[in-house]
Amino acid sequence: MLKINVYGDEILRQKAKIITKVDSKLIYLVDEMFKTMKASGGIGLAANQVGKRIQLLVVDVTEVEGYEKTKPMVVINPKIISSEGESEIEEGCLSLPEIRVNVKRPAKIKLKYKDLNLIEHVEEFDGLIARVLQHEIDHLNGRLIIDYLTKTEKEKIKPLLEKIKKREFEAKYSVSPLQV
Ligand code: ZN
Repeated sequence: MLKINVYGDEILRQKAKIITKVDSKLIYLVDEMFKTMKASGGIGLAANQVGKRIQLLVVDVTEVEGYEKTKPMVVINPKIISSEGESEIEEGCLSLPEIRVNVKRPAKIKLKYKDLNLIEHVEEFDGLIARVLQHEIDHLNGRLIIDYLTKTEKEKIKPLLEKIKKREFEAKYSVSPLQV
């Protein structure tokens, strides 16, 4: 199982690099990411959350009621080309244990991305999938849900963030070791 990077780890603030080739190492990583995500109770996972600075994310919402038949996705080099509408939902993040943030995002997106065969797709997404994709694409751009908080709101959760930095929390999954 892969270790999950949490708040305070530099990699979560770094922009991920474009993927130009898919080799067996990458295919193995994708497999490990799906396993880690499932075991951690996540529905999306970006590569920089598991220590890889590359534009790769996985989504699997089949555990969510009503989404059992949705195909798990491997998304490489994603780019949102247009978006519309707005929705506000409370989000959590494996890299921010115990924190929930109401995040306003476009309700619908048109996404250009590549699959594991590096074949390009342009597809529209809405509902939960659009939500998860935008959350994970934020990760690839070094953005976290706490960045959507107002200054006052962020001030309030500061002690909690400090605790995460110091690994003072209970998580059902293994996290990256404290970097000093
Ligand atoms: Zn996240």
